[in-house]
Amino acid sequence: MSQDKVTIFDTTLRDGEQSAGIGLTTQEKLEIARQLERLGVDVIEAGFAASSPGDLEAVQKIAAEIRKPIITSLARCYIPDVDAAWEGVKGAEKPRIHVFISSSDNHITNLLRKNPEEVMDTSVASVERAKSYCDDVEFSPMDATRTDPEYLFKMLEAVIDAGATTVNIADTVGYTIPSEFAQRIEDIKQNVPNIDKAVISVHCHNDLGLSVSNSLAAVRAGVRQVEGCINGLGERAGNAALEEIIMAIETRDDLFNVTTNIDTTQIYRTSRLVSDITGFPVQPNKAIVGANAFRHASGIHQDGVIKDKSTYEIIDPRSVGWPSNSLVLGKLSGRAGLRSRLEELGYQLEQEELNEVFDAFKNLADRKREVTDQDLESLMSSRRRIADVPTIYELEHVQVSTGDHEVPTATVKLIDPDGQTIVDAATGTGPVDAVYQAINRLIGVDNKLTEFRVDAVTEGIDALGDVTIRIERDGDAFVGRGSDTDIIVASAKAYMNALNRAMAMQGPQ
Ligand SMILES: [Zn+2]
Repeated sequence: MSQDKVTIFDTTLRDGEQSAGIGLTTQEKLEIARQLERLGVDVIEAGFAASSPGDLEAVQKIAAEIRKPIITSLARCYIPDVDAAWEGVKGAEKPRIHVFISSSDNHITNLLRKNPEEVMDTSVASVERAKSYCDDVEFSPMDATRTDPEYLFKMLEAVIDAGATTVNIADTVGYTIPSEFAQRIEDIKQNVPNIDKAVISVHCHNDLGLSVSNSLAAVRAGVRQVEGCINGLGERAGNAALEEIIMAIETRDDLFNVTTNIDTTQIYRTSRLVSDITGFPVQPNKAIVGANAFRHASGIHQDGVIKDKSTYEIIDPRSVGWPSNSLVLGKLSGRAGLRSRLEELGYQLEQEELNEVFDAFKNLADRKREVTDQDLESLMSSRRRIADVPTIYELEHVQVSTGDHEVPTATVKLIDPDGQTIVDAATGTGPVDAVYQAINRLIGVDNKLTEFRVDAVTEGIDALGDVTIRIERDGDAFVGRGSDTDIIVASAKAYMNALNRAMAMQGPQ
């Protein structure tokens, strides 16, 4: 029997980005989209074009550059939204318009304040409008799992008649459980007479921790598109984690008997990239991509794995692209050795970039002696956090005096957009606060620091310190990151990174 294919629909750039409450630059979105293409996802939801001019621009850029996957934009069932979605995706090799509307009594009454007939008519009109632009139209009844089944069946039949080619059953509030959800899919197949003209999709949220289980139950019930986000990002508790769904389908092939287009060896890199760019860390015990996912702590388990890996490992870490922790390069390794190792890890570098990375590598090798694949991954990921944000003000120098009997004082030197050096000093409650106050005096961008986190990038006392911060300005949040062996300098870099991002996206004042 030939295996069916399950379409993998990634919404990291829409549901994931929307929930992160952080502005990603178009460059960053493009970088994630390129990696999603390498991973082999079938559909990229690139944004919600009607929501802002920035979102529209990002959708257009992704549509223009990323050619293999279908590119879609979300749209409410509202004609100007559908038109904006088309503006976004019309340059794509394979465009799709994705329209949604609430279908549950709760949402229709409390949210839309319409009657069910009006909602039905609006749905059909919006699908027809989308269909006038492109053949590939997806329709999502929002809150479908709390929707009256009879109404849902009628709605699906009507939108499929109007031209919807995918119907996406959304468990918007993460309310259902696997057996109930599978039954609902069966009921849809039984009660929607034209259902064979559309692909059934699911979109599950994780409020009860069941999003992956619900998605998998739906696949077993015949669903052939699954939506989700890398690392399980998404509104509230998140969406279904795509990497978990993909590896469950792969590992339990005996039960699912379906295939995907995914290159699983790209999973680890995709997860790291998304975590780096969004500033959302992956919990250590997270399935597939957490730091401990393949670490055996108990003696009995270690003994088993040494005798035969299959005793306690159901997934070969290499199959998801996990970097090895064995020594690969040392102090005496040359540029060519570094380049070939990076290429094996999937990084293609121009000569100039290679030179910069080589300097950073030499620095690290001086202090660590042994440089592993994990170290190289860290090095590359801390570089890209900075690379995608335009430098409006540049940090030139930071100096701090602090101690338990002193008022922490910082002097900061920046290079302004005209290339002039500007200097100021300030005191603060601590050294980081003093640095931030001095930067505030120089740049004068009103903001509030809402999160501050320090992580060690690599192991050991000589580790790089990696600072992640979030600031709020005019109601929008911006992430900033910086790495250095000195955490005060890393903090200054992170703040400059966040301020540059805010100024690039909202203007200087
Ligand atoms: Zn969602």
